[in-house]
Amino acid sequence: MERTTKKVLGYEVDLITFKDSISLIIESIKSKRSMHIITINPEIIAMAQNEPAYSEIIKNADLIVPDGSGIKLALKLKGIKQEQIPGIELAKSVIAECCEQNLSIAMVGAKEDVINKACKNLKSEYANLNIVYSHNGYFDDNNKQEIINNLKNSNANFVLAAMGAPKQEFFIKECMQEMKNTVFIGVGGSFDIWAGEVERAPLIFRKFGCEWLYRTINQPQRFRRIYKTLPSFLFKVIIEAYKEKN
Ligand code: UDP
Repeated sequence: MERTTKKVLGYEVDLITFKDSISLIIESIKSKRSMHIITINPEIIAMAQNEPAYSEIIKNADLIVPDGSGIKLALKLKGIKQEQIPGIELAKSVIAECCEQNLSIAMVGAKEDVINKACKNLKSEYANLNIVYSHNGYFDDNNKQEIINNLKNSNANFVLAAMGAPKQEFFIKECMQEMKNTVFIGVGGSFDIWAGEVERAPLIFRKFGCEWLYRTINQPQRFRRIYKTLPSFLFKVIIEAYKEKN
């Protein structure tokens, strides 16, 4: 499938539907094509702009879906109507499809009790789910290689890394150097939600693209992250959209 993308502040964003992104991912998994999926948001763009190594990873990703409502708005300002593709929902739908098609998954990220609960909950939701490897996301450089070796030996078809950005993307990059035919996705705090530790925003917040607001109210420590990135992201995007139109 040919990619159609649009740049937002220098980073390509795939213009794709939720449904097509699932098909594309499953197709890659089944044909054993390596794939790095990024669920991009304004914070990731801000981090990438400040860190060349991270920027390189984002630019080389194989599928970049607009996770944040900020990205959806940026594309709207550029005259593009694109649906928001929340990483957590995309990952869950791919997991469901993996169950249908007897494909295995591996999960790395979150605290030990959280990942255990998340695995347990997913297994009770999907009876056929084959989780071939899981590990918490709190490891240091000394045991990283062992985790990568275990992941490789597990032959997982679909690997979810949930250590927050940019840690999960750096980890995925290292894994991909050794696992050439695996599909990877970074899913931030999704395991906390699947474990039932953190609640997802109510539908009304999600419908109006305000999940970030709900999460900030519930986790005030997020305010600093949002405050530092969102206003300047919006300002730069407005200028960029204006320049493109004139
Ligand atoms: N985390 C981890 N290892 C670390 C730091 C964080 O596994 O060294 C986990 C943390 O426990 C949480 C997730 O990464 O489950 C980060 O969630 P956050 O909500 O910050 O991610 P976002 O969804 O905002 O990208």
